[in-house]
Amino acid sequence: HAKQKSNHYLFFNDSMNEQAVKRLQIENLMRFGLKEDHFVVYYQPKMDIISGALVGMEALVRFITPKKGIIPPNVFIPIAEETGQIIEIGEVVLDKACQDVKSWIDAGLFEGRVAVNLSAKQFSLPDLTTRIDVILQKNQLPSYFLELEITEGTVMDDPQEAIAIMRSLSARGIHLAMDDFGTGYSSLAYLKQFPLNTLKVDKAFIDDMHNERGRNMVDSIVTIAHNLDLHVVAEGVEREEQLAFLKSLNCQTIQGYYYSKPLSYEEFTVFLKQQKRK
Ligand code: C2E
Ligand code: CA
Ligand code: CA
Ligand code: CA
Repeated sequence: HAKQKSNHYLFFNDSMNEQAVKRLQIENLMRFGLKEDHFVVYYQPKMDIISGALVGMEALVRFITPKKGIIPPNVFIPIAEETGQIIEIGEVVLDKACQDVKSWIDAGLFEGRVAVNLSAKQFSLPDLTTRIDVILQKNQLPSYFLELEITEGTVMDDPQEAIAIMRSLSARGIHLAMDDFGTGYSSLAYLKQFPLNTLKVDKAFIDDMHNERGRNMVDSIVTIAHNLDLHVVAEGVEREEQLAFLKSLNCQTIQGYYYSKPLSYEEFTVFLKQQKRK
């Protein structure tokens, strides 16, 4: 009995275990949240740098709990990746994104692509393409309207296998974007073999454009992308100077607070209506 007591004491005083308790709490909140529909999708516009017109949007998940408020993605996504809950969360996001975009298309407000993040766990599901087909069909959304954002880590795990999966997605007319390019373990040798449409320059590089080396870095990334015939999206653009420099590099598309933060379905609908009036 005494032994049990000391274990108990250790458990609640060890900071590593405190972390484990917090993770377990979030895991439970996510399980409950999946049942109770606490995962909501926000949309951030992607804008054409020259015309200022909307070209697409990225779907970003928001976890809104009644008791703990909003839990940010950088807190729950890594845990969901570990527990595998990201598979179910990812499908909820894809389903909602398809449904929302379908409604904007039907209302005559939009005709581009919605970009949805695909986690490594989802990417390596043996029936990934079937799952995506089912969700597209359920929402009566042609695959032409979908883009998937995949990170370097996801594809560099097993590049040959990744190429095969990407080809089967691409063959359906789904566009593929490499997300957070340059932040992880990337291989230029593979970059040209992946059937990508778009390369997203990570916010970390955009943040670093206040000095010359940082600007040269972005210049180099954009040049590589253009040489590989990839469309470039600059992410996390907040300031006029960043926009001006990106324009000088012929970087076509901008996503960032400069234009808009991620918006709820209702807010994005208003945004689309304002865009139409322009
Ligand atoms: P990400 O895919 O790189 O998404 C871009 C993040 O940058 C978003 O953060 C967005 O709100 C933020 N951002 C965009 N422009 C600006 C800006 O100008 N300034 C600042 N400070 N931030 C900006 P968010 O929504 O918090 O998401 C964080 C990450 O969580 C995402 O990074 C992505 O890796 C992951 N994530 C979000 N939604 C999903 C999802 O549905 N599935 C998966 N697998 N991951 C997701
Ligand atoms: Ca993304
Ligand atoms: Ca990104
Ligand atoms: Ca990022």
